[in-house]
Amino acid sequence: RKSTAIITGASSGVGLQAAKALADLGWYVVMACRDIEKTKRVAQEVGMPADSYNIIYIDLASLQSVREFVKYFRALSRPLDALVCNAAIYMPLLKEPLWSPDGYELTMATNHLGHFLLCNLMLDDLKQSAVKPAKLVILGTVTHNPNELGGKIPPRPDLGNLQGFAAGFKAPYSMIDGKAFEPVKAYKDSKVCNILTMRELHRRYHASTGIIFNSLYPGCVATTALFRNHYPKFQKYFPLFQKYITGGFVSEELSGQRVAQVVAEPDFAQSGVYWSWGNRQKKNGQAFVQKVSTQAGDDAKAVRLWELSEQLVGLK
Ligand code: NDP
Repeated sequence: RKSTAIITGASSGVGLQAAKALADLGWYVVMACRDIEKTKRVAQEVGMPADSYNIIYIDLASLQSVREFVKYFRALSRPLDALVCNAAIYMPLLKEPLWSPDGYELTMATNHLGHFLLCNLMLDDLKQSAVKPAKLVILGTVTHNPNELGGKIPPRPDLGNLQGFAAGFKAPYSMIDGKAFEPVKAYKDSKVCNILTMRELHRRYHASTGIIFNSLYPGCVATTALFRNHYPKFQKYFPLFQKYITGGFVSEELSGQRVAQVVAEPDFAQSGVYWSWGNRQKKNGQAFVQKVSTQAGDDAKAVRLWELSEQLVGLK
């Protein structure tokens, strides 16, 4: 039988190309997306064979929608062999926070809390996978890490002592550290949460389930819609800057192939790690396990994030 992967945010950019790359490798892909018509269209545009995928609605910002997605997926009666948490929003120009249906700041709700709930609910499905090892992959980014060149530009991510989460994370709280709203930091904080979640999943469940949990930095995919909410000038010059000055530029196709590799190739069977191909895209560059930032490597923070996130998504 075909192996099955769920990819969130498969209607665009990295997720779409990852869906295509996995379908090319013979996988069946469940595209978990918030815009069904768009996803139908782009899946055809990139040439995914009609029998290689299914599209199921999910709004990751809504906890109820995440729970409903799980029911719809189970109704397909397909095993789950890999879950790829890829969807994200980045809204650098916001002056005021936007709020999710549950009353949480939208960036953190979409990128972290929705995925946190989804991972927890789908663990049982992954445990039952006949494909060994099953995989749970969460997209990371270099901007989570101030020790790396790409992560040095302020504002830096800082979860503080998670005061915002501890206070219930509803208005007036919009940031995990309880401080004033800063949309770029909200994105970076959410990506630190993604890596901490991956590491805590590994610590809690790898030994007992055999599931491989990992993250990756696919490279700077400067052309994707992630930057749709940035200044038009930024959208024009950022890809050129990454291509010709930093050498960090990665095409959407290549980023998708990297995700597919991490999901499907036996070489990527280490759990609890963060894969990278480096910041400069050297020819024939190989993937390596990269150290995560001090904050994303903080075990006590991972536990605290886990416990507070459980409360915020209604698991506790
Ligand atoms: P895109 O904006 O192209 O894709 C994001 C995807 O997430 C889209 O499919 C979007 O749906 C979906 N999405 C957003 N909000 C929701 C929601 N509430 N519910 C369901 N789906 C949602 O971005 P990228 O492809 O660039 O980013 C994908 C991942 O890669 C992210 O996790 C990002 O952090 C990571 N990444 C990207 C880098 C880059 O340079 N681009 C670098 C490092 C990491 P829709 O099509 O409907 O908008």
